[in-house]
Amino acid sequence: MLFNQLGLLAELLRAVQSQGYEKATPVQHKAIPLILEGRDILAGAQTGTGKTAGFTLPLLQRLQANTKGPRRVRALILTPTRELAAQVHESVRNYGRYLNFRSMEIYGGVSSRPQISKLRKGVDIIVATPGRLLDHLQQRNVDLSGIEILVLDEADRMLDMGFIRDIRKIVNELPKERQSLMFSATFSNDIKRLANDFLVDPQEIQVAQRNTTAERVEQFVYPVDKRRKRELLSELIGRENWQQVLVFTRTKHGANRLAEQLSDDGIQSVAIHGNKSQGARTKALAAFKAGRVRVLVATDIAARGLDIDKLPHVVNFEMPHVPEDYIHRIGRTARAGREGQAVSLVCIDEKKLLKDIESLLNTHIEKIVMPGYEVDPRIKAEPIVQGRQQRSKRPSGGGNKAWRGKPTSRSGKRGGNANSRGGKANARGAQRKQSSGGRRRAS
Ligand code: AMP
Repeated sequence: MLFNQLGLLAELLRAVQSQGYEKATPVQHKAIPLILEGRDILAGAQTGTGKTAGFTLPLLQRLQANTKGPRRVRALILTPTRELAAQVHESVRNYGRYLNFRSMEIYGGVSSRPQISKLRKGVDIIVATPGRLLDHLQQRNVDLSGIEILVLDEADRMLDMGFIRDIRKIVNELPKERQSLMFSATFSNDIKRLANDFLVDPQEIQVAQRNTTAERVEQFVYPVDKRRKRELLSELIGRENWQQVLVFTRTKHGANRLAEQLSDDGIQSVAIHGNKSQGARTKALAAFKAGRVRVLVATDIAARGLDIDKLPHVVNFEMPHVPEDYIHRIGRTARAGREGQAVSLVCIDEKKLLKDIESLLNTHIEKIVMPGYEVDPRIKAEPIVQGRQQRSKRPSGGGNKAWRGKPTSRSGKRGGNANSRGGKANARGAQRKQSSGGRRRAS
């Protein structure tokens, strides 16, 4: 559906046009008219579906309908991470560029003074993470009694990250009479309870089936021994000539170590995780987006909400403990209808984690054995040691059955120049050939 059929203001249509969007995505098509009507919404929408515009455009239009009176905070968007807050705020600014609203982002890890001074000058829209916003509320730096619209973005993740109490405290400060919009990739019972408490007669929207993976993401699993994962990753990046790869590890320490090792292999890499300062995170992300860094190694929480245009490759260097995180991870690629590829390097310890993911997705992910990296059948599964930062929702289990299907012993060419960024067209063609001939299905 075209944007101009959704009843949006000319100023918003212009802004959409300058973003280069032609058609509304399904979540936009479904959510925008309902939000414009003033309905509460519970939307099951994965990352990458265009949900941010889906709530931001009608939110701006609702605010624009009444701009009389002194400036006060009228809309609040809560997000789980600083990165997502910054990103959503960028969308608010982009879509609102032809309107006259003032907006700001609020999150921790940076000085609160500039935030306080902005608040004093008056803002209409706040995009915030719960913790820092609560600090401001408690210090009476911000007044939320004039809120007309509340958005809880990536609500499932906010619950996973333990923000529920902060969110409840914040919502207690809001007027009862308001419009509330809740977006979540997955619908657990906790999410439904939250929706019950915060939303009034919500209209439910589902744009992808419950807990299904983003469409168009090609998914593969490479069975490999744990100690050879890094080597295999370097080889895949080199031989397939991947230029922009987001790699997930389970721990901050693991992210640091892998980024260093890949850099030692000649593949420019940086790590991004909760122990890095906001400045370092922003810098790493900017370098990755600009193509100065080829690999961004991230933990689940740090990567939440990253929106990198046309991100072609996501690699699960380690499988997540929580199967839903797999959906979030691979949602970083194939955003808004683009093609993408998600590759998981799975060792014997992680077979159970993979099984959980496959049963959540109700599918079998294609297994490929890279010649030269066949798993050693003598290695038995061991329990996965959890990092201190790990959310321990589920204890992991390995299960010590060997991989089904025989790894091929056919030798593909090993090596590939991990270092090369150049000679692209030919190299890419050759590499594609080589890799498609050299990979084999395992089961
Ligand atoms: P989101 O799911 O909101 O994080 O959006 C994912 C990506 O899709 C962002 O890069 C948006 O700029 C982009 N996007 C949003 N709406 C559209 C649209 N209608 N057409 C094309 N791209 C879009």
